[in-house]
Amino acid sequence: MDIKQKIETLRAELHNHNYQYYVLDNPKISDYEFDQKLKTLERLEEEHPEYFDKNSPSQRVGGKVTKNFNTVKHRERMYSLSNSYSKTDLEDWVKRIKKSVSEDISFTCELKYDGASINLSYENGEFIRAATRGDGYEGDEVTHNVRTIRSLPLKIDNDKLPEKFDVRGEIVLPFEGFAKLNAERVEQDLEPYANPRNTASGSLKLQDSSEVAKRPLDCLIYGIQAVDLELNSQFDALEFLRKKGFNVPEQIKLCQNLDEVINYINYWDNERHKLPYETDGVVVKVNLFKHQKTLGHTSKSPRWAMAYKFKAEEATTKLKKITYQVGRTGAITPVANLEAVQISGTTVKRASLHNADQIQKLDVREGDTVYVEKGGEIIPKITKVDFTKRDPDSEPTRYIKNCPECQTPLKRDKGEAVHFCPNHNSCPPQVIGKIQHFISRKAMDIEGLGAETVALLVENGLINNYADIYELKKNDIIELERMAEKSAQNLIKGIEQSKQRPFEKVLFALGIRFVGETVAKTLAKAFKNIDALMTAQVEDLIEVNEIGDRIAKSVVEFFDESTNINLVKRLKNYGLNFEIEEEQQSSSKLEGLKLVVSGVFESYERKELKSIIEDNGGKVVSSISKNTSYLLAGDNMGPSKKDKAKELNIPIIDEIQFKSMLDDK
Ligand code: AMP
Ligand code: ZN
Repeated sequence: MDIKQKIETLRAELHNHNYQYYVLDNPKISDYEFDQKLKTLERLEEEHPEYFDKNSPSQRVGGKVTKNFNTVKHRERMYSLSNSYSKTDLEDWVKRIKKSVSEDISFTCELKYDGASINLSYENGEFIRAATRGDGYEGDEVTHNVRTIRSLPLKIDNDKLPEKFDVRGEIVLPFEGFAKLNAERVEQDLEPYANPRNTASGSLKLQDSSEVAKRPLDCLIYGIQAVDLELNSQFDALEFLRKKGFNVPEQIKLCQNLDEVINYINYWDNERHKLPYETDGVVVKVNLFKHQKTLGHTSKSPRWAMAYKFKAEEATTKLKKITYQVGRTGAITPVANLEAVQISGTTVKRASLHNADQIQKLDVREGDTVYVEKGGEIIPKITKVDFTKRDPDSEPTRYIKNCPECQTPLKRDKGEAVHFCPNHNSCPPQVIGKIQHFISRKAMDIEGLGAETVALLVENGLINNYADIYELKKNDIIELERMAEKSAQNLIKGIEQSKQRPFEKVLFALGIRFVGETVAKTLAKAFKNIDALMTAQVEDLIEVNEIGDRIAKSVVEFFDESTNINLVKRLKNYGLNFEIEEEQQSSSKLEGLKLVVSGVFESYERKELKSIIEDNGGKVVSSISKNTSYLLAGDNMGPSKKDKAKELNIPIIDEIQFKSMLDDK
């Protein structure tokens, strides 16, 4: 088998395993075997950039950066759906359509997936474009981001399909992935996302597709737009699409009459809570395409489809008490403590009240009977008060003025909704929280030291801040409860080893507000060392891609505080990393190669490219000749260079291929 064949066979195999795993939920090989095959493919592709394919399974990890999303016109308009809220609404609809269609009408019932609608274009069996719904006529092109979604087929067997067609679907973020993402955000002191739907649509608009790749998005397909399809019904079309590799949920059902439709709705009204993603209704579609055609569209929606909306799960209960929690950075969260109530099969005892404004807006008070809703949100929320049940003597809630833990008067920044306790250095939950963050797995990852031990160390006065960790002695620790000689020894070893963590981890560990893992990485790369970062002004910071005003201000504020400067100084003295290790920029990976660079690039400046090529032993030449090794082609490249390269058989590579030539094996 030659290399090209080998690469193609591997790609086909991996596409198929993705399908088995993500669509059919029936993996045929272990994750380990999958990874091995993928690694082999990546290696071969790296060695042979000439066989690059943007739809290779290796491209799912993303890497493309989109600064501005192009607007693209939909080949066919993306309509809304008419809504119904009761069975009578549905009966009326069926009566209406029966006036235009005299034959028996069957229906395809589907769940209404709650995410972001997407239009996917294919040509000759290849995925070529994804666009959001936008205003229905045109949407934003989000191809690079959508390409990372594992359940989306990038290549399909085009048999019985037209050369060009569009499929439509919904991009959803399953609950599990949503909860994980939020847990990470909370750990990084970022506001958790409100619900999976907004998070899914927000994900599509992230600039860096490798960030999108990390989110376990799914793409559920509900329709195809194609003229000359041999199929004649919605149900058959969906079954056909599933066989072709698309993720068409199994819950779809062909119903012969309205009674069967109602049964479907009743069944899924309860059962939907067992599904891994959020649904908010059922979409009933006239099954036969010829009937659909007869019925046509109104100005907004097809007459042949109707959405039935489920009622949000809601219950009323009594609000016993409002308590206040203090987070690691001092942020105060008011919590409603409720009389236990059952909602969507779970017992709810607490609900978030978010902040003072929210309490005021709802006018919620202790002793009130409140409506609690559990929608896509993980944490239930209070939607309104039942004022008819309010005690006439009750008084408006007075938001606390002092920290419930250390009594310091609370503050609230302009433009921010959340109060905080400014006593960052001695408010107990903040002191403990900061150290717990510092030692956590994604930060300094100190082996042998857990969150509980940190609390114990603080309570026993052994440490007051994270720098103190590095002064701990074995004998101090042994004094603690439950600490044996051996574990104390391990702890000291763990502390010592943590000094090896790279700068970006240390930076994340410092616990600067809004500086999560990714931001820390970005800052470390941009500023290279702590001194440059400490002296940076807001203007310098916002120059950096992905760094906004809020983060910039927070960084500057952090380093304005002498306590923080002292902590950093101490950590430096203990030998922690406060600069990035010299990037191994120079290599001989491009030794002897002559490259022509043309066009504009997403991740490199032209000047920068030149020095990268030279640092790696290559040479940049200005015009193409038969001695040229590669044409490195960006966007908007002139056609003459391309033609010349083709004529002389010079391989043309893009920046991704270029990058992979530099990456280590
Ligand atoms: P609406 O936004 O309320 O007008 O509802 C229309 C949207 O519902 C469409 O744009 C789709 O994104 C979404 N939707 C979810 N599930 C389905 C489904 N099974 N069939 C059609 N549309 C669906
Ligand atoms: Zn406090």
